[in-house]
Amino acid sequence: MIEPIDDLGLTVLSRILWHAFLSSRVDKLPREEFLKHQRERLQQAIAHGYSKTKFWRNWLDRSGVRPDDIMEIEDLRRIRVCTKYDLLAQPLEDRMADDPKNCIVRSSSGTTGGPMKSYYSKSYYDYLAGYYIQGHYLRIRGILGIGPLDKLMRITHGNPSDVRTISGRTKSLGFTSRLVGPLHDYFARNVTLGDDIDEILPEIRKFKPDFIKSTPSYLRLLAHSVSSEGIEEIRPKALMTGGEVLDEPTRKYLQEVFGCKTYQGYSASEIGKIGFECETRIGLHVSDSVIVEILKDGSPTLPGESGNIVVTCLLNDAMPMIRYDLGDVGSWANSPCSCGRNTPLLESVDGRREDHLTFSPNRIISPKSLMSMLHRDMSLPPSQLVQETDDVCRLRVFAKVKSKGISNLLDEVQAFLGSQTKVELSLEPSQELRVKFRPVISYKNLRDKRWTLVN
Ligand SMILES: [Zn+2]
Repeated sequence: MIEPIDDLGLTVLSRILWHAFLSSRVDKLPREEFLKHQRERLQQAIAHGYSKTKFWRNWLDRSGVRPDDIMEIEDLRRIRVCTKYDLLAQPLEDRMADDPKNCIVRSSSGTTGGPMKSYYSKSYYDYLAGYYIQGHYLRIRGILGIGPLDKLMRITHGNPSDVRTISGRTKSLGFTSRLVGPLHDYFARNVTLGDDIDEILPEIRKFKPDFIKSTPSYLRLLAHSVSSEGIEEIRPKALMTGGEVLDEPTRKYLQEVFGCKTYQGYSASEIGKIGFECETRIGLHVSDSVIVEILKDGSPTLPGESGNIVVTCLLNDAMPMIRYDLGDVGSWANSPCSCGRNTPLLESVDGRREDHLTFSPNRIISPKSLMSMLHRDMSLPPSQLVQETDDVCRLRVFAKVKSKGISNLLDEVQAFLGSQTKVELSLEPSQELRVKFRPVISYKNLRDKRWTLVN
């Protein structure tokens, strides 16, 4: 039974702070203790999904598995992997372990497989809020060099952000909100970006954020404006990216323009937080609220080997998610991180599976390697590489005339893809930025074309 939150503000706040305290400790548990902790949470999550939802009961039955069979993390492999299409094929009520009216709802952008609503239980939301507070005000204070009094800004495309939802949540906390709400609004701001960065520049300049969270595409746009207009007021102490792959040339460019470090986060609306970079920035630490598997042909990959990212959420009681294939490709790090955290470490998240250029079953190219090429010279206009057929790719550059730099980029992409692939150049007169600008896409794989740069 979940308590109504509106009249229990202090209780909720204390739970959030408790989660913040817990998550600051779990990361650095000795490895064996951490695994024991995860094992127990996994057993509970599987038993809960099986007993409370028709969907997961049927799913486990069809896998020939009973909850008692899942004692170790490796036992998860006995359960079939589930995709968004499997979930959407069944009615929502079959997947819910709680009344949706008691839950906090999040919507995915629908980049892969169409939009899907996700429901978080209030206790899971408290965990995420605690993780957020711990992450931003305590952990990140140490990691990123920003302090509890520094101002945070998030630039999104209108999706509810953690900042806004926590702000909304504090407003529902009764008298507590009178204290927390204005303080929060002073220290954290959410702005939404449509197609034109100039529309939000005045607000960013006025707010003077110490820490900015956004997608790499939006931060690139902001960096272009800051550097071309010589804007002095936007001098954050750290940047955090999410929502898209961060390629290294983009990271380097952002760091040069803003003069601060850029960190990468990894989350999905269906799941919540999945991973974050620590001070070493050599990989993404997996959040203690999930178990991540990386699979190739159904088997776990070796460190450094690319595979499909499959996630089990351990804490969302409202809408259990077991062995959910996110549609992303990534790899494990070869060695543990030197920071002392014992959580599993992702070496890289390489982007959506459907954005990989697929020429044959044995010739699949990661969008991240191509994005690094497209973003190496930031003085060039924005560009996009589209795979059109098995042997034709199109380099779309948003410029009126072909420059020497554009010719060089074309030659470089052609040399990279080899003579068996023809790379054609299109100069496009104007760009129209969509929710998530995908610099590399494959029409061959694309089911949903809404998020391309130009329709
Ligand atoms: Zn680390």
